[in-house]
Amino acid sequence: MSSTEPSRKKALTPHLTDEVRHTLIEAAQTVRQHAYAPYSDYLVGAALLTNGGAIYTGCNVENAAFSPTICAERVALVKAISEGEREFEAIAVVTDNGAFPCGLCRQMMYEFSPLMTVIVVDAEGIMVNESTLAELLPKGFTPDQVHKHGTA
Ligand SMILES: [Zn+2]
Repeated sequence: MSSTEPSRKKALTPHLTDEVRHTLIEAAQTVRQHAYAPYSDYLVGAALLTNGGAIYTGCNVENAAFSPTICAERVALVKAISEGEREFEAIAVVTDNGAFPCGLCRQMMYEFSPLMTVIVVDAEGIMVNESTLAELLPKGFTPDQVHKHGTA
């Protein structure tokens, strides 16, 4: 982050009230039922909260060729991005055992909102984690580093 990105220094989670947190987690639990995971049988649901208060959901989608498999977090993210969203407050992720988002997903979310809140919940609805994305991806790669390469 730098002074050229003031939008990333605004209040982090103005919409993330207890009620919205509950709604996000429920949305992630619901979309998790749509997960396509015939190979791992590891169902994941994610619900992403934008800085405008909208919610986009995603589930993991596996593929017989394995490489094309995409995580629930990135499905939610690309849905939101394709609708013009660029800033996010929070994401709730529900898995069987409360596993955290993978490195790919952390980096892809970091592109837009390093200070967003990441909520991890297990299949029983127990919250395993609530922290910022930056805590989960210290020193993540930022757009600034691409634009300023060679001068830093
Ligand atoms: Zn992932």
